[in-house]
Amino acid sequence: MEEIPVKVAVRVRPLLCKEVLHNHQVCVRVIPNTQQIIIGRDRVFTFDFVFGKSSTQDEIYNTCIKPLVLSLIEGYNATVFAYGQTGSGKTYTIGGGHVASIVEGQKGIIPRAIQEIFQNISENPSSDFNIKVSYIEVYKEDLRDLLELETSMKDLHIREDEKGNTVIVGAKECHVEGVDEVMSLLQMGNAARHTSTTQMNEHSSRSHAIFTISVCQIERNPGAGEGGSWYSYRRIVSKFHFVDLAGSERVTKTGNTGERFKESIQINSGLLALGNVISALGDPRKKSSHVPYRDAKITRLLKDSLGGSAKTVMITCVSPSSSDFDESLNSLKYANRAR
Ligand code: ADP
Ligand code: MG
Repeated sequence: MEEIPVKVAVRVRPLLCKEVLHNHQVCVRVIPNTQQIIIGRDRVFTFDFVFGKSSTQDEIYNTCIKPLVLSLIEGYNATVFAYGQTGSGKTYTIGGGHVASIVEGQKGIIPRAIQEIFQNISENPSSDFNIKVSYIEVYKEDLRDLLELETSMKDLHIREDEKGNTVIVGAKECHVEGVDEVMSLLQMGNAARHTSTTQMNEHSSRSHAIFTISVCQIERNPGAGEGGSWYSYRRIVSKFHFVDLAGSERVTKTGNTGERFKESIQINSGLLALGNVISALGDPRKKSSHVPYRDAKITRLLKDSLGGSAKTVMITCVSPSSSDFDESLNSLKYANRAR
């Protein structure tokens, strides 16, 4: 059986308090005991996984992400995207938000994955591990290093090495020894996301944030030496990208003009390119010929972790409120195209 390169999940968040207060009605529901979502009266979509308003962070992690973490340890690259309009629950789901203040059960994907990676490492004494993290933002097709703000975006370049691995030349990679260290780097990067602009929400909802953990393991296998005293070594390198995508909302809704309008177009072009890549990967006729990775920074950056032997999950986050009907329908169509 052929592996599905990209699995698509949809998560419908609950109505927020303020939406309940304003009497918003629910227009998106999960059909019980199916992997189907119904929006409005009769539009039905089917996905690999669907999660309704009472789904827990633990459930999302265990169903969608845990298998990717295990294959990361085995040496495969992995990517998880959160897609959706601003306010639909992307950051909540990915778990890249205010990490320190969050209670255990509410923790999102990143802290859970990090914990599991280090757990696996501690249980594997026959390998030596070297773990690194980086945190990059793509804003208006420019890269920014969230772990080293002094780095000018002109000094960051996406390259492909001779083995086909994507590298960001100039990006800071921090060597880490444990969960707490990773979490404080994540925190630091998040703070950096908000410093360069006065309108922080505007900025962060229009940029893609890519948090990457790279695992290099040297596996020691007893060799042919007397009494197993010689070892043969195998070097395994893999990485996991956690991507909090820019808000998918359309330009018209916010009535953007001028510079802001240009911004939205550029960001939507990144999401468009990503949609095209994912769709090509799922299409057996296109797969072998042309996957348009080069069309945007975000797809170039993720090239070695999207398709091929890499495992990818896209989580589309959706607001249930009828006031968001149009955006939710657009998000479901986008997700459907990725299948
Ligand atoms: P986005 O990153 O897509 O803009 P957020 O993750 O910031 O959206 O979520 C918007 C608001 O909704 C936040 O206050 C968040 O805590 C809340 N929220 C999102 N998803 C859920 C959920 N599944 N359960 C409870 N609250 C949620
Ligand atoms: Mg967000």
